[in-house]
Order: sequence, then C-alpha cells, then structure tokens
Amino acid sequence: MAAQVDSAFVRSVYDEALLNGHCYKRLGELCKTVGSRLSGSDNAEKGIRWGTAMLKSYRFDSVFTQPVMVPRWERGEVEELYFSSSVFNKKIKNQSLANYDCEAFEELPLKAVKQHKIPAVVLGGSVGTNGKITAGLVSVHSDKELDSLGKAGLLKGKMVLLNRAFPENLINTFAAYGSCVPQRVNGASKAVKYGAVAVLVRSMSNRCDLHAHTGVMMYADSLRKIPAMAVATAVANLLDQLSREDAGLRISMQLNCRTLPDRLSANVMAQSNGTKAPEKVIAFGGHFDSWDQGEGAHDDGAGCMHAFEALRILKAVGYKPKHTLRCVWWINEENGLRGATEYARKAAETGEKHIAALESDRGGFTPRGFGVDSAFLPVMNKYKSLLEPYGAGTIEKGGGGADIGPLRKFNSNVVLVGFIPDSQRYFDVHHAETDVFENVNKRELELGAAAIAVMIAILDQELE
Ligand SMILES: [Zn+2]
Repeated sequence: MAAQVDSAFVRSVYDEALLNGHCYKRLGELCKTVGSRLSGSDNAEKGIRWGTAMLKSYRFDSVFTQPVMVPRWERGEVEELYFSSSVFNKKIKNQSLANYDCEAFEELPLKAVKQHKIPAVVLGGSVGTNGKITAGLVSVHSDKELDSLGKAGLLKGKMVLLNRAFPENLINTFAAYGSCVPQRVNGASKAVKYGAVAVLVRSMSNRCDLHAHTGVMMYADSLRKIPAMAVATAVANLLDQLSREDAGLRISMQLNCRTLPDRLSANVMAQSNGTKAPEKVIAFGGHFDSWDQGEGAHDDGAGCMHAFEALRILKAVGYKPKHTLRCVWWINEENGLRGATEYARKAAETGEKHIAALESDRGGFTPRGFGVDSAFLPVMNKYKSLLEPYGAGTIEKGGGGADIGPLRKFNSNVVLVGFIPDSQRYFDVHHAETDVFENVNKRELELGAAAIAVMIAILDQELE
C-alpha cells in the first residue's frame, strides 16, 4: 500500500473495521470470560493472560508484557449501608413520595420498615468501619457549605453526604465530572477535619437512578482515615431531603474492605515494527484495569480493543509503518497509575524514543474526533476533511490523557493525542455495575477503532 493517508486509504480502513471487525467480538470475550479487572485482583491477572494469548494469535511482530507492581485494595464481603427514617415511612404510608422527582423510585421496594438498604458501593481505597457505625446525616453541596457547617461544629460525629451534582448545562460531560470529582477523591479528608465519622458521596453521573458509581478516593496522610461510600444519585436526592425534614434520620454503615501488600502485574503490548525508523515508537492504547463493578466494558475495555483493532486494521490493509506502532494496555490507571508511570520510566531508562502517544479512555461511543497538542494542530488541518465524512473530523486543542501524560515528563517533544467520542452516555455507566458489554454498541466501537487507525497512520506519516 502506498505510504499515504488519502481518501482511498481512509475508506479501506473503515471497510476493514466495519466489514471485518474484530474488536467487538474480542471485547465480548474479555467482558464475559474475564469480567472486571481491578488492579491486584486474580481477575486482572487472568485478563492479562487472556489478552496476551489473544494478541499472540494475530502474529503481530511482537507481543510482550512489562512487569509492574500494583496496589491491591479489596472490597471485602461486608458492604452495607442503611437508613432509618420515620418521616420516610410516613411518606410511604401516605403515598406522598412524588416529591422525590425521579422515576428510579419506582424500582425501590417501598415498605415502611425499620431500615432501608441504600444502593451504595464503597470507594476504592477506603478503610473499613471496624464494626458498625451509626450516625445522623448532614448533606452539603459545596466546599464552602462544608466549611461553614464544619466551623459551626455541625459535622461533629455525623456522616456527611457530599452532594454536589453534575452541572447539567455543560455540554461535555467530562467537564461536569471534573467539576465534581474532587469531592469523591478528597472529601473524606475534608470532612474529617470537622469531626465527621464517614462520608457518602453522590455518584458521579448525569442519570438519576439506583446504580452507585465507585472510583478512587485518597486520604491526606496527616489526618484520620474515615470510610467513604458512593450512593446512587436518586438516593442522594432522597437523603438530601430527609436530612432536612427528619431530625431522627440515622445512617448505619458496615464495611470490611482492606488494603493488602502490592502485587506483581503487567502492561501488555503488541507491535508492528517500523520499516524506516523502528527505534522510534508511536504508542496507543487504554488501561486494562477496571473497577470491580460491571465488566469494565466502556472503561476501558473499549479503549484497549480500539488500540488492538487499530493495529490489526493497519496490518490487514497492508500499511507499512515508518515507525514502530505499539498497542499498549496500561495497568492500574484507576487507582495508582503505576502502569503508565513505569512505562514512561522504562522508556526513558532504555532510551526508547516516543514520537507520539494516543489514548482512548472515554468509552466506546460514536467518535467525534481527537484532541491534539497545539503544535500538531496545523498538520491536522490537512487531514480534517478526510475524517469529516466519517463523523470524526472534530479536532480540538489538548491531547492529554492519564496514561500517556507521564511520557511528557521525560520527553517534551512527544505529540499527545486523545480520542474523543460522544460523551453524553459515558457517565451513565462509568464505574458502575452497568458498565457491561451489553451497553457497548458494535458499530460505535468499530467506528472508533477505524478513526484511531487513521490517526495513527497520520502521526506515522507526519512525524520524523
Ligand atoms: Zn478509564
């Protein structure tokens, strides 16, 4: 094939992706035969073995792993959160729950009982409760409110519901996530300063439903560690209201999650060697680990399969890369970033030069385009019109990504590119039990892989 990215080449890439695609089938295998892949778990290791064997079956120039020590936090067997409220029970009896403004409530088993189970999951990294904790609840919607209630002594001995909701008027849901996620990551250490005994965090989602979304949380070293759970958005709304209406509202929590010693794991890689400058590498991929809710289908099984499929497509259409093209599945993005950190460190140590890196970690949704470093923007102007007929011609400034970011530390010239799919449904499933294969659309996933294959070829052609 002529080493040129033109409309015929782009067509051939999309034909291969859509008529002979492998990524959807492989994602299904990953989700259904391995499932979730929390760093340090046996399942993550099983997945790595599955992935290595799968990649080897395609006879790429090489398939290999890179050892990485990863943290090992376990959820434990006990994970319970209940509330008791006479006001709520009265509302059930009077059938006056319409106020709670969410259709998800139709799914709640509504009976006036002593304790109601709350759809909740402990946040990754949380300590356990060491027995049961029972306390009253205070709901806060901003750091400012947390500080003012805390300074007034109103959080002492309480559980705190960190209840800042996604700003729904933001078009990019990742921006909404970014504006709320600090309360999940740092909220426990903020609340403990005012004497809180535990935190509940509103799930990071646009949806009002009964699925809790987990994610990483961290403690300030100098402060006491208190447990932290995510509660489903619909329940956060309910608890918010009850915390104001019912002085007798009580929450009880019991958890036995724990942190074990680090464990040996690995990044997984497959590559096609460059024909002109094989010592220069273009890396592209996603993270292989996931949270233990669901199957890590969109986050980030999709990104891993995008990268594998892009490598496969370029080989299948006979593209001869100038540089080495490397599909990378980084481990431990979710709760440590150890895989990406070790990958970049090792590249610097061995003098392996990365000219570009691309990350797909926004799910397997319909592609819109790419975020690219500003230095590479003028180059992309030449190619925009080739991607536009496929709906992937939106080129934005800014090519970061958690897993490719560390490469920049050692090499300021590496061109970073982020794959940008449609973002409207990502946070419906992100880190929740609903992030399963059934929620990935075959065509959307394939279109993403094709767009990434084209982008990799552009980088390969344009960079020296
Ligand atoms: Zn992710």
